[in-house]
Amino acid sequence: MEDWVQQLQNSVNTLDRLKAVVNVTSEEEEAITTLNTKWGTTPYFASLMDPDTPDCPIRKQVIPSMKETENRYGMPNYLIWEENRDTGEIRPDCIARQYHDRIAFTVTDICATYCRHCFRKELVLDRKIKLRFDLEEGIAWIREHEEIRDVLITGGDPFILSDQKIEYLIRKLREISHIEMIRFGTRTPIVLPHRITDGLKKILNSYHQVPIWVNTQCNHPKEITEKTARAVFDLLSCGVNVGNQAVLLKGINDNVETFRKLHQKLLAVRIRPYYVFYCEPAPGIDHFRTPIEKGSELIRDALRGHTTGLAQPMYVIATNIGKIPLMPDYYIMEKNEKEYILKNYQGIYTTWPNMPES
Ligand code: SF4
Repeated sequence: MEDWVQQLQNSVNTLDRLKAVVNVTSEEEEAITTLNTKWGTTPYFASLMDPDTPDCPIRKQVIPSMKETENRYGMPNYLIWEENRDTGEIRPDCIARQYHDRIAFTVTDICATYCRHCFRKELVLDRKIKLRFDLEEGIAWIREHEEIRDVLITGGDPFILSDQKIEYLIRKLREISHIEMIRFGTRTPIVLPHRITDGLKKILNSYHQVPIWVNTQCNHPKEITEKTARAVFDLLSCGVNVGNQAVLLKGINDNVETFRKLHQKLLAVRIRPYYVFYCEPAPGIDHFRTPIEKGSELIRDALRGHTTGLAQPMYVIATNIGKIPLMPDYYIMEKNEKEYILKNYQGIYTTWPNMPES
């Protein structure tokens, strides 16, 4: 049996298995035994948890918390709103659409790790929203919609599907002449790097004409290991670029030092920081949410000017009408007929000539 399948079969998803890895607190035990929610992770990712520190950033993403019962700001049926499902356009359950030329194709609700902050919590963790994941229905819809040029295959985690299904999906999408690129959203390079097998590499490698992009989710520098580095290198060697979509999480990555380290370490293993998402108002995740301004402040104070431009993600809030960038806006301090007054990351001013369009 392949390593990645073994990892999934031995998922740390019972109290006893968790107790074999960390010293479980009474609060964690109460949440595990009382909350009706799917939880768990791979033995590999669990091995990165600090056994004696309940505040460990990996523990907080993996182990349920009683705080999930608090919900002042979460919106019920959040996913339906955020993925713009409740509109006039009739689409299969597996197709979410916010833009004219691209869609998200949801192919499973299974994950290697059930992240406590997941914006799809109602679907993936709490199973209160049910959707039908019919690949044929999705492919047929995409085929009929010639304006769609870019498909994001998502879940759950689509790399949990078998090699055969992944190969089938890529092949079918590639046969559609209006599809110019395929993206996968998968946390496996971080939580199950074993998934990047020779078999999967062979599948990904076979496609040159319709490029494949992978975006993963890494939220803390502790999540990056030699195994991650290898998995990313292997993906790149198949012509697959790897980006990161972090989530801004209170008590996990919302401080300057961690935020900078995260983005530097991502680049050090060849993952390009792509987005940092504001933690969305799905129900039961209030405890992960910072003020909205926090992300722009972190971009300004931890990244801009402090590390290479390659490590600069776009900070966005994902809404039903698409992503809205919330970048720091301190650069142009003043503009007059003659010049612009600009400020840099250190608060130092300079001027730049105002050159009218000719
Ligand atoms: S891997 Fe993605 S879909 Fe699965 S629980 Fe984590 S954030 Fe949600």
